[in-house]
Order: sequence, then structure tokens, then C-alpha cells
Amino acid sequence: TVAHPNGEITDGFTLTIEALRANGVENMYGVVGIPVTDLARIAQAKGIRYIGFRNEQAAGHAAAAAGFLTGRPGICLTVSAPGFLNGLVALANATTNCFPMIQISGSSERHIVDLQQGDYEELDQFNAARPFAKAAFRVDRPQDIGLGVARAIRAAVSGRPGGVYLDLPAAVLGATIAAEAGRASLVRVVDPAPAQIPAPESVARALDLLAHAERPLIVLGKGAAYARADEAIRSFVETTGIPYLPMSMAKGLLPDDHPQSAAAARSLVLGHADVVMLVGARLNWLLAHGQPPRWSATARFIQVDADPVEIDSNRPIDAPVVGDIASAMAAFTDALRPDQVTVPDDWWKAIRARTAQNVAKMHGRLAGDGARMNFSTALGAIRDVLDGHRDVYLVNEGANTLDFGRDILPMYLPRHRLDSGTWGVMGVGMGYAIAAAVESGKPVVAVEGDSAFGFSGMEIETICRYRLPVVTVIFNNGGIYKGDEVNANSADPAPTVLLHSSRYDKLIAAFGGTGYQVDTPDELDHALRAALRSDGPTLINAVIDPTAGTESGHLSSMNVTSSLQPA
Ligand code: ADP
Ligand code: MG
Repeated sequence: TVAHPNGEITDGFTLTIEALRANGVENMYGVVGIPVTDLARIAQAKGIRYIGFRNEQAAGHAAAAAGFLTGRPGICLTVSAPGFLNGLVALANATTNCFPMIQISGSSERHIVDLQQGDYEELDQFNAARPFAKAAFRVDRPQDIGLGVARAIRAAVSGRPGGVYLDLPAAVLGATIAAEAGRASLVRVVDPAPAQIPAPESVARALDLLAHAERPLIVLGKGAAYARADEAIRSFVETTGIPYLPMSMAKGLLPDDHPQSAAAARSLVLGHADVVMLVGARLNWLLAHGQPPRWSATARFIQVDADPVEIDSNRPIDAPVVGDIASAMAAFTDALRPDQVTVPDDWWKAIRARTAQNVAKMHGRLAGDGARMNFSTALGAIRDVLDGHRDVYLVNEGANTLDFGRDILPMYLPRHRLDSGTWGVMGVGMGYAIAAAVESGKPVVAVEGDSAFGFSGMEIETICRYRLPVVTVIFNNGGIYKGDEVNANSADPAPTVLLHSSRYDKLIAAFGGTGYQVDTPDELDHALRAALRSDGPTLINAVIDPTAGTESGHLSSMNVTSSLQPA
């Protein structure tokens, strides 16, 4: 606020930041330019940490990860039209992942946009954002900024969390109003994500189903991780003795070496469970839509979810429990009678036998064949180093790098793994890594496929500029999926090929970070240990056998191929 002949005044920029501050926002991720540059300056001046990116998409992914990690909406700041569109990928991805974030974008003059007169960066952003967001709002008067921010926060975190778009036209940001009226217009959101207590009869119905199960299974999804009901979930799992399967971002909710983890017997438990309790996990493609042959045709399902519309989306749900997971798990524990649920020995015997088999198989893969470093042997080295650094945040993306990484890298703490998520998207890596470092202050290791890294690689400069403790390990096999395809028709490389000779380690040296080039698991071990000791920005170019991996990783069945292409 500034003194003015007519009394103190304030403006849209200041009100926006004050509205965010009033609701506990601590960090903001973005790219500045017309018309939002002063928004970032005022954020810094008023004690919000502003992290400036090189591309809005990475900034948006960072905001989404911040939302998942903190349970409060992450904030992404974008400039008009092209910047807004870059951020939209992240907004849509956040909505798909059920991560709370708010994309705040400046926009050009309404009267010019609406008559399509060709303004600088003209785009009807509000309507463009709507199909990709959980909710979208535009503020047309400075005195409505407080309310707009409040609505955006509540929309992002209540019920099923998601991405919210908040449009702030340049004229609104620059507009002035009396400071007193401005202060009075701010809203402190009370209880932004109210508890949703499940109906007692839905809880009883679910427990009854579990009580009659012979081969029960609990599936924990990233909604369960997001819910921060860690103790309640652990106590329910341990009291009932039911085997559980963590989806990738629920890994660590219970430590991966927990005796009730059925992760190493995944296909057995999916195929044979007769009662399945889904906790914050959707029966989408990642769980084969709950359909045979992956699942038993006669299995019965319990689903605990905040969103009633999710129920029956893929397969009929026998016992829906609609509520927030913290309230639901508390209700289960309260309603559970001693020995109401017991797990037959045969089920555990089958799970233990399959686990032993698969662990032995994995052991062989990790040992390698002494030839060039592949996905398994490289991940084995990372696993051994991280075993001594269990509080490290892990980011993982790529095709084979992700598929192998999910199985090989164990997690011991909740919400410490961030990966490609529901869409299986590539390009989240650097944004997620930056947010994890900023929000937690802890070291981060990003295990990246060489192609996946390329989508947000320039953010290495951001990591160096803010001196974040991020170690990026690039699994350089020289390609998308694999690096050994040959184009028989011209001198051009095949569509899947990237430069295997790339020295990604030299990229970070350009920005003052430390780079390592490694060809063996031993060298990778040493480089990663040194990087974690240094606590500084590091990039390790891990050279992987270009013939390692498979096309589309574990998704080969989804990779439609032409029957006409030359053999
Ligand atoms: P995964 O990919 O790990 O299986 P999904 O993203 O498919 O997880 O599923 C997460 C589910 O969790 C969504 O259906 C979402 O509605 C739900 N969810 C998210 N947060 C909560 C919460 N606090 N309480 C209840 N359900 C939640
Ligand atoms: Mg690759």
C-alpha cells in the first residue's frame, strides 16, 4: 500500500499476494513476463519464495508436486497465451493425478480478447483452461481477488483434489483501490478440505465383506499417500493382517520391506484375491480396469474414495465407502471387532512362495552378466547407495527406467516417491525434483530416462541457480525405449534414436554444477555417493547398453504397431 492524496491505496498485484499469504502460501513456481512480473517481485518482497523456471510446464509440474507433498495447493505463475498453454499440460496432469495446484495466469485485455481484435498474446484463456481443470475462475475486479483466491484454494484441495485455473487480466492486476477496502476483501479460507465422514453402514458393509474373504487384498494408491493417514493405514493393515499392494506413489506408506507387502507377488495377488479393498487407488489402466484375466472374474471390491463418482467406473463395487481416507480408516478401526477379519494361512503360503520365486529372479537380474551396464544393474547400484539415505526424495520417469525403477528401488517413507503417475507422462522429472527439494529441504535423486530428461532438461540451470540438492541420474541408452534401431531408408537416425554419445554431464558443468560420466555400476555407486556427500547440484550420465530395454517398457501391449511396415 502507498500513501495517496485520497488516502492509502493498494493494487491488484499486492492484493493477490496478500490473499495468498493470508492462506499460508509459502512458495510459488513460475516464469515471469507480461503481465505478471511484478507479481513475482511483490511475492519475494512479502516473504513468498519465488522459484523462477525456464519453461512453464516444469514450473506447473513443480507446483503440482508441491501440492501432493504438502496437502496445500501448489502455486504456478504463468504469463499470457503461450506461457499459459505451456502450464496447461501441468494443470491437466495435476487434475488427472488428483494433486492440488493453482495455475495463476496473467491475461490480456478482456475487451480486445472478446472482440478478437488481436491483442499481444491474445487468447480466451479462461475458456481454454476449463476442460483441463477441476475448476476455473476469472477475476474481473480488484475487489474480487480475495474471493477468487479463496475459491481457487477450496476448489483445489476439497473432495478429490485437482488443478484449478485462476485468470487475472492485466487490467485487474494493475488496478488500484482503497487499501482499507482491499484489506476487507481478503478471505482466510476456513477448513479448506473438510473431513468427509463415511456412512457407518458403508463401513460395516465393507468389514463384513472382508470378514468373509479367503484371499483378501488391500491396494494402496497415491490417494492414500496424499491423505496423510499413515498411522491409521498401518494400524488397519497390521491389525487385520491382510496383504497389501502399494501403487507406485504409495510405496513407502508402509516400508517396502514390511512383511505384509505383496509387491513381489503382484500378479498372483491380482489374479487370485477374492475381496479387494481399494484405498485411494482407481481401477484405471494401471490396474487393468479391474478386469479378467488380470483379476479374478468373481472378485468382490471395496473402494474407499473421496469422490462418489469414481465408484463403479470400471467394475461394479460391492462395498463403496465414500469419505476421506483419514476419516474412513479411523472409522474402520473403530468398527472392527477383535478377530472379525482373519487371513487364511493358505493365502499367505501362496504369496510367500511366489515372493521367494520373484525375489530370486530379481537377484539374478541385479547381478547382471558382466557385460555393459543395463537398467537392472544400474538401478541395483542406486538401490545400494540409497539404502544408506532413506530420507532422500526419489523422482523417477522414463519408460524402462520407470518400469524397472518402480520394482528395484524400495521406499521406506511415505510421499518420498514422485513419478510419471496416472498419465504415465514424461517431462515431470525436473519440476518434481525442484519442488521436492524446495518443499522438504532434503536431498533429491531424480532417476531419468534420457528421453524423459530431455523434456525438462533446461531446468538444470534452475537447479544450479537456486543451488538445490538435486542429483539427476540420466539412464543414457541413446533412445526412446532403446537406442539400437537402424533406419533402413535414409541416413537419418531412426525415430526412436537419440545421441548415445551425449555427454549430459557436461550440460550441468556449463551452469557450475558437478557432472560425472559413468559406465559401470561401480562408477555409478561412487559418483552417487560423492554427489550426496556434496549436497550440491549434480548430474550423472550413466551410460546404459543401447540394446537394453523394450519398446514401450511394460506397456508393449498398448503399443499399436502397423502390420504393413517392412519387417
Ligand atoms: P494410484 O495411481 O496410485 O492408483 P489414483 O490416482 O488412481 O492412485 O487414485 C487416487 C484416488 O484417491 C482418487 O480416486 C482420488 O479421488 C482419491 N483420493 C485422493 N485423496 C483422497 C483423500 N484424502 N481421501 C479419499 N480419497 C482420496
Ligand atoms: Mg532411453
